[in-house]
Amino acid sequence: KLFNELQDLKGNIRVYCRIRPFLPGETEKLSVVENISENRKLVIANPSKRGREGQRSFQFNKVFGPDSTQGEVFSDIQPFVQSVVDGYNVCIFAYGQTGSGKTYTMTGPNGATEEEWGINYQALNLLFRVSQSRREHILYEVGVQMVEIYNEQSNNIHDLVIVIFVFLNLHTVGIKTISQPNGLAVPDASMHPVISTSDVLDLMDTGFKNRAVSATALNSRSSRSHSIVTVHVRGKDLKTGTVLYGNLHLVDLAGSERVDRSEVTGDRLKEAQHINKSLSSLGDVIFALAQKSPHVPYRNSKLTQVLQSSLGGKAKTLMLVQLNPDSTSYSETMSTLKFAERVS
Ligand code: ADP
Ligand code: MG
Repeated sequence: KLFNELQDLKGNIRVYCRIRPFLPGETEKLSVVENISENRKLVIANPSKRGREGQRSFQFNKVFGPDSTQGEVFSDIQPFVQSVVDGYNVCIFAYGQTGSGKTYTMTGPNGATEEEWGINYQALNLLFRVSQSRREHILYEVGVQMVEIYNEQSNNIHDLVIVIFVFLNLHTVGIKTISQPNGLAVPDASMHPVISTSDVLDLMDTGFKNRAVSATALNSRSSRSHSIVTVHVRGKDLKTGTVLYGNLHLVDLAGSERVDRSEVTGDRLKEAQHINKSLSSLGDVIFALAQKSPHVPYRNSKLTQVLQSSLGGKAKTLMLVQLNPDSTSYSETMSTLKFAERVS
């Protein structure tokens, strides 16, 4: 049943759109979002043009309006996440300008209640539940890694990494390295044994806080780096001995806003160029996959190299396109939508 549902994916790629609500204090009344029909189509109106000629429509697999809840978003993502325990590789990205709700969707607000949990927490919780419910037949090992890619460099990610290995069989709780040929290679990663979902969630909080700390220190670096939570799953069928691997990458991408070259120099310009390069490489890879092109340009950025095993082939890709609701973001919104249009 699950498989049938996933078979209608075009090149195994699905694109969802989420518009965040207006926030308290935001006074901009004019909404760029004119119309959402059948939860699949979005009509955007150019605020400086009246009438039909200022309108453009975009098609998605699903559009989540400003009132959508975390639970509603996750219920449409759940089949993807769940397929990881059956040995699939899945990649979920949040793409959009800074402030468009990427982190809210992926992680949730600060101090989130369970209802406000973002995809990260909900996905882990689901994977634990499913693997625990099968433990009489399949022994699952779940490992979680948190990695940041900043300026296309891997040596900047060490302080951010948390590696957690969990053994769900009642008799084997402990630390072990899961030998995962497809995993992210991060040699200095620290390891934390955990025995429950809440242990993992606590450790993830520490990871996110580490990211937030470096954000203040380095002037909001978190919006200029990509954060990747990777869940490795290894399942061994206790009867047949068959082993399967699946992994889930949850990616909170760097802000997609274009930086005016005339206004920034030095480190800031370098950062902007790296972000631009990795986001456009990601677009190129997803576009090539959607076209079923024989050549997929994975090597063009660190981001696409790291995620290569989970992009293409049997892997499933889900892009969450995040939008701001206000008219002052119109031009960034249009460029975000054009990025999405190319891959969907
Ligand atoms: P980004 O990660 O894209 O820079 P954030 O996730 O930090 O954006 O969101 C920017 C602000 O908007 C934050 O204060 C966040 O709490 C709020 N926000 C984003 N999405 C929602 C939502 N769906 N519901 C309520 N608040 C949201
Ligand atoms: Mg963010």
